[in-house]
Amino acid sequence: MSTSPYPAYNCAACGGPLTLKFRYTKIITCPHCGAGLFLEDKAVKMRGLESVMADYPSLFSLYENYAYKTQKLTPIGQVRFEYAHGFWDEWWTLMSSGEACWMSVDEGDIAIEQLVTLDKMPFMPDLQVDVEIELLGESLRVTERGSAQCIALKGEIPEVIMIGDNFDYVHLSGAKGRLVTLEVQNGNLFAYEGQWIDPFEVKRL
Ligand SMILES: [Zn+2]
Repeated sequence: MSTSPYPAYNCAACGGPLTLKFRYTKIITCPHCGAGLFLEDKAVKMRGLESVMADYPSLFSLYENYAYKTQKLTPIGQVRFEYAHGFWDEWWTLMSSGEACWMSVDEGDIAIEQLVTLDKMPFMPDLQVDVEIELLGESLRVTERGSAQCIALKGEIPEVIMIGDNFDYVHLSGAKGRLVTLEVQNGNLFAYEGQWIDPFEVKRL
């Protein structure tokens, strides 16, 4: 068992030790019994109804290491969303730079994004497909909009997300594979920016 520099918790269901890999983890699934748990200050609370992550072949597995360019990537959390075209996975991923990112994988397409603060939030209803707007110093075009629902969670997650949570999203694309995603969850708007990456440049270590 590896040691962790982060706070020690025990599972509220089975009492087993929970070894955090990320200081700000808010949700964790117990590696011993599979219970879903909230971490709040020093307390560990049961989340209630869980859904099992069905095993589909994926480019990534939790806690394995991957190389992308000069970075080592280690997914520590997985959130699955269902949408009109099926499902996609968001992997909460530690980077060897010390940062963390969301890696989204929809079949063979991979994007890496990080939370970003916008000076001015766009008005979501205006953002129909093919509309162009100025955002983050660039002209971006809406390539997709839709809604999704969280259907499964596994590992460590830095946000409080519940199974069954719904949200609306808009994807915008810029030059050189740049990607911006806007999400509305419970009336709050979050922006993420990043880029599409070439799956062939990601190697398992
Ligand atoms: Zn447990």
